[in-house]
Amino acid sequence: MLEKMQERVEVEEVVEEFELLTKDAGRVQRETLKKILEQNGATEYLSQWGLNGRTDPDTYKACVPVVTHADIEPYIRRIADAGILHNSSIITAKPIPAMSLSSGTTQGKPKYLPFNDDLVENTVQVYKTSFAFRNREYPIDNGKALQFIYSSKQFTTKGGLRAGTATTHLFSSPDFKQTLRATQRPCCSPDEVIFGGNYHHSLYCHLLCGLLYRDHIQLISSTFAHSIVHAFRTFEHIWPHLVADIRRGSLSSRITSAPIQSAMAKLLLKPDPNLADAIHQKCLTLSNWYGLIPALFPNAKYIYGIMTGSMEPYINKLRHYAGEIPLVSADYGASEGWIGVNVNPKSPPEEATFAVVPNVGYFEFIPLDSGGEAVGLTEVEIGKEYEVVTTSFAGLYRYKLGDVVRVEGFRNGTPEVRFVCRRNVVLSINLDKNTERDLQVSVEAAAKVAAAEKVEVVDYTSCVEASAEPARYVVFWEMSGGASDEVVEECCNCLDRSFVDAGYVSMRRINGIGALELRILKRGTFQKVMDHFVGMGGAVSQFKTPRCVGPANGKLMQILAANVVKTCFSTAY
Ligand code: AMP
Repeated sequence: MLEKMQERVEVEEVVEEFELLTKDAGRVQRETLKKILEQNGATEYLSQWGLNGRTDPDTYKACVPVVTHADIEPYIRRIADAGILHNSSIITAKPIPAMSLSSGTTQGKPKYLPFNDDLVENTVQVYKTSFAFRNREYPIDNGKALQFIYSSKQFTTKGGLRAGTATTHLFSSPDFKQTLRATQRPCCSPDEVIFGGNYHHSLYCHLLCGLLYRDHIQLISSTFAHSIVHAFRTFEHIWPHLVADIRRGSLSSRITSAPIQSAMAKLLLKPDPNLADAIHQKCLTLSNWYGLIPALFPNAKYIYGIMTGSMEPYINKLRHYAGEIPLVSADYGASEGWIGVNVNPKSPPEEATFAVVPNVGYFEFIPLDSGGEAVGLTEVEIGKEYEVVTTSFAGLYRYKLGDVVRVEGFRNGTPEVRFVCRRNVVLSINLDKNTERDLQVSVEAAAKVAAAEKVEVVDYTSCVEASAEPARYVVFWEMSGGASDEVVEECCNCLDRSFVDAGYVSMRRINGIGALELRILKRGTFQKVMDHFVGMGGAVSQFKTPRCVGPANGKLMQILAANVVKTCFSTAY
């Protein structure tokens, strides 16, 4: 009771603090920049730009260039190679203790980014703020959470720095762990399951733990919504094994990891035929698995994870599993640092916006339409799209995140932005330019054609067939069942017509771009894609299906090519 009261008081305090910060967003931004530059102005990186101790936004903008990861990669590499004892004063005054691996799956290999204690502090603030707003709308009591989380492999750089995902670094911080205890329900799975190493085994046991605690589960979450959808898609196939384990009171011999076996043995103490029967019954009575989550977890209050951006294609499937349980989209951040908090947790995930947190970094926004100069946080205009530029406490200065956001409104003095897409044009041959978002729109339109025939698009990606004459777009689909040739043809034409970019349409008309090709993949191909990503040292919880496969990503291309079962060319033009 006392614990609950303290928590409630803190929630109000945290909300109040956030309102104050955002009311004065302009001043807070100037102070944040000043603090970052005072700390790090004498570093090798910053001193070359002639700031000479000045910390105001105008001088900063005039002296320091906007950069991308490629521009600062040589500095980051030196930091990684030099190690903690010798890497101070390169980009930050204090030494950099660890490197984060950012997903960067498009190019097929992860990027290094500096990680330090300031990022931990920012994360604590963002988690508390997000929790406070969420808990006001959806209070949860003392239950448990079913979290589809997996640890990533950690290794050390040449200079001996720890390298892993930002989340993995966070877990080694006592401050962060304390915040997790205060803001989350305990995870139903033991640590051995989370840190098990083999994610097929971890996923199996996460589901099993969830079922064992089914009445206690109040929350289902993962970093990205993809992991939740993937978990329940897997459940559709493996549930008889899970039920059998519960009935027997022992873990399936398929799970071979010794630490997981012994941790699970403590939970599977005796046969539980009643629970096994109840789950079995639920699985038999559901229609096409609609409402699976509330059927399994009757006390679940909401489902939580990032559902925006490249996760949007999974929302419909998640909603299907969730039935009436609300979906709450999580916050906006990156390995580079945090950007915004979802302060309207009740809004549907398709409409989720993020209030930019003005003291976790210094933010600038490059308008997309005019391609003009970067503007400050309080100078952005509602309805306009911008590319985000961040300056962090971890040594990134005027760094282009590569994300496009649209300003939807203001929360006090700070903008609330919607995530639009990654900046990179994914498909381009000639005059045409199509982004990740354009591809998503086309796929959604064509998927409706398939849905009318009761087949779903499980996942998708694309590439440009540049060696063809003329070059063409290729879209890859994994579908939930077999579709007739007519349906595939119709989908293919619909895809082609749904790219409405003027450059594309005009080039298609004159055959400057060839007929779009739709390649249908074997069931389970995207599972193989994820296995490949994990095999390269990536974390499952960070996995985002690459929406376009570049020429540098030969291995991924091989996986796709080896799994094509049907191919079709558009006749739309
Ligand atoms: P990573 O580099 O693996 O840390 O991933 C960071 C990237 O994930 C960001 O730059 C965004 O492109 C994407 N991302 C993070 N949070 C969100 C969100 N809430 N909505 C959409 N995309 C997001």
